[in-house]
Amino acid sequence: MNSLRRPLIAGNWKMYLDLASSVSLAKSVAAGLPADAPEVMVATPFTALAVVGEALKGTKVKLAAQDCYWEKEGAFTGQVSAFQLKDAGCQGVLIGHSERRQFFGETDETVKKKLTAALENGLLPIVCVGETLAEREDGRTFKVLETQLTGALSGFGPSQLATLVIAYEPVWAIGTGKTATPAQAQEAHLFIRKTCQRLHGDGFAAGLRILYGGSVKPDNVDSLMSEPDLDGALVGGASLKADSFLRIVKFSAAVAK
Ligand code: PEP
Repeated sequence: MNSLRRPLIAGNWKMYLDLASSVSLAKSVAAGLPADAPEVMVATPFTALAVVGEALKGTKVKLAAQDCYWEKEGAFTGQVSAFQLKDAGCQGVLIGHSERRQFFGETDETVKKKLTAALENGLLPIVCVGETLAEREDGRTFKVLETQLTGALSGFGPSQLATLVIAYEPVWAIGTGKTATPAQAQEAHLFIRKTCQRLHGDGFAAGLRILYGGSVKPDNVDSLMSEPDLDGALVGGASLKADSFLRIVKFSAAVAK
């Protein structure tokens, strides 16, 4: 953690929870936030955005979606645009999550288009990058990260990317219970920051928030967040229960002071 960057803890609810459980979880998270909480966001399924947004009104918890489409409107059955997400009350959006890359054909090119649409519509984009186990074992982690970052971020000016957040999510650590060690995460985060420095300059890189994601839990968050280039967490499984998510949030509040 670095006190210049405000920590962000984002929950990714994936394709879980019915509407009643979503509202109840959102209310419990909002009610349990400490006064000095970091920035907190929950990314719900599209169907829950409206009810969760309503439940979060007047609270400090921000609402995000898990994906968006880049066109504003049109004959694109099944898609939801960044414009529609903003209209539905979203403040943020996940882009390029590894499950989208793995199962739904997301590429660096579509990530860039979605990032452009998110920025144009005033949504805080959380762009996810990360290597598979095979790529790590082949010694290609940095190459993969560099390709994903260059693909998504080149062609913008640093001021256009002022709200950008990157999430480093090693694919082998997502939903597997295997967490990157703090040292592995720090090494990747530092590489991401240096790559962003090369692309967009010192000021941009120094202010860029980089989240770690991959089996973050109450019992490992403290050691992960003690690394200097980890600025928060993107949390899947442990964000589905208020007590575990709030424990993760509260750690960040303690170090952010
Ligand atoms: C995620 O969904 O982005 C994630 C990191 O999941 P989990 O925390 O369950 O590994």
